[in-house]
Amino acid sequence: MNIMIEQLKEQFGKNLIIKEKLSKYNWFNLGGPADIFFRPENKDQLIEFLNKIKTINLKTYFLGAGSNTLIRDSGIKGAVIKLGSKFSQIKLIAQNEVEVGAAALDRNVSNFAKENNIGDMEFLSCIPGSIGGAITMNSGCYGSEISEILSSVKVLDPQGKEKEFKRNEINFFYRGCSLPKEYLILSAKLKGTKSSKERIGIIQEELINRKKLSQPSRIKTGGSTFKNHKQKKAWELIKDSGCDKFFIGDAKISEKHSNFFINNGNAKTSDLEKLINKVKKEVYKKTGINLELEISIIGDEK
Ligand SMILES: Cc1cc2nc3c(=O)[nH]c(=O)nc-3n(C[C@H](O)[C@H](O)[C@H](O)COP(=O)(O)OP(=O)(O)OC[C@H]3O[C@@H](n4cnc5c(N)ncnc54)[C@H](O)[C@@H]3O)c2cc1C
Repeated sequence: MNIMIEQLKEQFGKNLIIKEKLSKYNWFNLGGPADIFFRPENKDQLIEFLNKIKTINLKTYFLGAGSNTLIRDSGIKGAVIKLGSKFSQIKLIAQNEVEVGAAALDRNVSNFAKENNIGDMEFLSCIPGSIGGAITMNSGCYGSEISEILSSVKVLDPQGKEKEFKRNEINFFYRGCSLPKEYLILSAKLKGTKSSKERIGIIQEELINRKKLSQPSRIKTGGSTFKNHKQKKAWELIKDSGCDKFFIGDAKISEKHSNFFINNGNAKTSDLEKLINKVKKEVYKKTGINLELEISIIGDEK
């Protein structure tokens, strides 16, 4: 395997890093190294890479802005593909419709829409991820979700073949969608409605302020740890079960929002995972409700 990795390094040069620490690439600032960390230069190079790694059966993960991902301390035996700025283009393609690269940040898409007087994309201004992550997670807030503005998605399958799916060919649900996990999202078309810069600016500000009031900022977190339950919001279940003061080492729960778990400085992923499991167990004991994870935890368990 090591020989294969060295050969890949030779072929892909500066775009491929061996044993790259993943803590730099996620909001928790946590996680060990990836055997291979690949940031493709362009689509052709990406296809070349996918074709190469399928011959060596390497486990592959995709990373966006890392705002919903917790990576284990032992890192990843396999390859992590992160699309960078080369995949973050945003362009106007029709009236009220934009085409955006998967690595474009949600916030930038919202602002581009504002500049072009396109409404319905205001909510993207308060989600700290990329478009690839937002589609995978069907991200949203305050009554809007990305699936409502999506027209189509372009992906690469594991064979490196490009496919396009129309919105109605994908099943979207609360914090997820039916796109196969092995499909790498390349870009998407998003359609809004005619509005004005002024009105969009006001809505964006309103949503951002609402967030500031209810959620902590400038902390190392993955946002909501658990999905809300039909009966009750996850933060309420955690608080009502008396778990909001739980901590393990530097793994803590935000005082402002009890569904935001935090690396308060020197936590390890194992501390956060222990805290997550402890809270899940306690909530189940107190309420009979089995909390489901919203964040994704990846990497090898020791
Ligand atoms: C402070 C804070 C506030 C948040 N508020 C909200 C909120 O209001 N609403 C909400 O829904 N979420 C919220 N989140 C969670 C998070 O921002 C969203 O889930 C976001 O859409 C994840 O995007 P990302 O690029 O960071 O994804 P990542 O964490 O990098 O990845 C998430 C998932 O998407 C997959 N993925 C990423 N890119 C691609 C791609 N190109 N192709 C295929 N798969 C891909 C990954 O493999 C992974 O499974 C919040 C997080 C934080 C830290």
